[in-house]
Amino acid sequence: MEKISFVIPIYNEEENIPQLIAEIEAVAPDLCNNYEILLVDDGSSDGSLKVIQQQADQNSHIRSLALACNSGQSAALSAGFQAAGGDVIITMDADLQNNPADLRQMIEHYGEYDMVNGWRFNREDSWSKKIASKIGNGFRNWLTRETIHDTGCSLKIMNATMLKQIHIYRGLHRFLPTLMRLEGAKVIEVKVSHRQRRYGVSKYTNLQRGIEGFYDVIAVRWMQSRHLTIEIKEEK
Ligand code: UDP
Ligand code: MG
Repeated sequence: MEKISFVIPIYNEEENIPQLIAEIEAVAPDLCNNYEILLVDDGSSDGSLKVIQQQADQNSHIRSLALACNSGQSAALSAGFQAAGGDVIITMDADLQNNPADLRQMIEHYGEYDMVNGWRFNREDSWSKKIASKIGNGFRNWLTRETIHDTGCSLKIMNATMLKQIHIYRGLHRFLPTLMRLEGAKVIEVKVSHRQRRYGVSKYTNLQRGIEGFYDVIAVRWMQSRHLTIEIKEEK
């Protein structure tokens, strides 16, 4: 591992950003001595971009990328992946629900595996969200013949070369373990902690996520069935 790029999508998370950076800085040197923190502002309408710029002025590890308008979590992540300079990419939400300290344990599996996906075992969300997520994961797994418990957990460590091969469409950030597998990745899930959101609000409703997820799972199933595996026998 030469360099880690932390890629964080941010939409109206102004109160969360300073603590998020402090928590990443507390763990990052234990993971790799070369790292960057790429904060992607997804067209926030609060003061997030200003806070990002202030933080970047004080900390040379931080790079900021601002999208012209709110384009969605998949777009923000995709822009960050393309801009990332590391050979390893780590994602997490900006809302402090993930705990970067869990990365110490997750990173142990990186190398043997190309993707380490967090699994929020004791999830600190509302009952309705937990039930919706269980149904969503079950449905996704059934149609895509997967066994991922928590594909929606944003805390992920991924091989950057494989990740950059994936063409991400809106909503597909929820299918990264499956899409990474299509790129040949070995994927493991590791149990992680989860915290309540203290500042700001969730950007999704269960209904919206359910409808979108249903539509997207069909696309991913199609990708799996049509995926090309090409082995060159000879080239002259
Ligand atoms: N986010 C984003 N663009 C959007 C919606 C969300 O960049 O249009 C970011 C958001 O700021 C957070 C992450 O994506 O860092 C996950 O969003 P959220 O916490 O609202 O999702 P939940 O945890 O409720 O599923
Ligand atoms: Mg969240």
